[in-house]
Amino acid sequence: MQTSGKLIWLDGALVPWDDAKVHLLTHTLHYGLGVFEGIRGYRRADGRTAIFRLGEHVDRLLQSAHICTIEVPHSRAQLMAACVETVRRNEMTEGYLRPIVFLGDPVMGLGTLENPTRVAIAAFLWGAYLGDEGLRRGIRARVSSFTRSGVNSSMAKGKICGQYVNSILAKREAHATGHDEAIMLDHNGHVTEATGENLFLIKGGRLFTAPLAAAILAGVTRDSVLQLARDAGIEAREELFNRDLLYVADEVFLTGTAAELTPVCEIDGRRIGGGEVGPVTRRLQQAYFDAVKGAAPRHPEWLTYV
Ligand code: PMP
Repeated sequence: MQTSGKLIWLDGALVPWDDAKVHLLTHTLHYGLGVFEGIRGYRRADGRTAIFRLGEHVDRLLQSAHICTIEVPHSRAQLMAACVETVRRNEMTEGYLRPIVFLGDPVMGLGTLENPTRVAIAAFLWGAYLGDEGLRRGIRARVSSFTRSGVNSSMAKGKICGQYVNSILAKREAHATGHDEAIMLDHNGHVTEATGENLFLIKGGRLFTAPLAAAILAGVTRDSVLQLARDAGIEAREELFNRDLLYVADEVFLTGTAAELTPVCEIDGRRIGGGEVGPVTRRLQQAYFDAVKGAAPRHPEWLTYV
């Protein structure tokens, strides 16, 4: 359970947390056409708070809306300023931001264009998404029995509310069978991503992850890790691979704003590598935490100070 903030930014103004309510006939609640983001701010080693890659997250929010033909009634600059203000006015030194663009009430029916487009930004404390123990020691995953929707069925480049039904079914199935997370394959059996994280594997010292042409979200953390790997001289390849390469990988890890960089130590009952967090994963995890909250940021362009 996450710890709530005090104020929520709603349609241009901060309102008390408990007053940020919507009507039952909110269109997005029924049909799922809405878009959202997940963003983290960290208290850095110097004591200052910085939001990680805020511009890229707001860009993706606007692109997700564009994919959905939703016109957002606020500019990129306004949304970035609203995120900063939400953190500041909630007096948070670290936390998670959840912007959402949704279609309001009251008209039902799929084709209506009458409802207002609404925007909210909530801020709250949210610990390690896959658990502190998962971050430290790795998680157990399974390949899902649910297939990731095809690239012409779902718009994977959009972070679209309704698309998360596919991920939630997979996540619930994983939990029901005693796993921490599910890995999604596409219709051809290629590994795409996990339910809310991108996936990387290491084989022979090289890093592999699915290409952007696959049915994956263009993760901001994925992009950060690819850059950090290149900084560290680790060869990184974006190409398709199948589940058997997961089983024989030296190391596997997941990336996401919420999950950060979480190692995977077991998949479908098979130990990955030595069954412990591997050296490349450890190195990249350290580089990631240095980037988001370390003393000497290698990529100051990724930080928006609050
Ligand atoms: N894939 C999916 C399906 C996700 O929901 C997320 C979380 N936003 C990610 C990947 C990771 O994206 P990011 O690193 O931008 O948080």
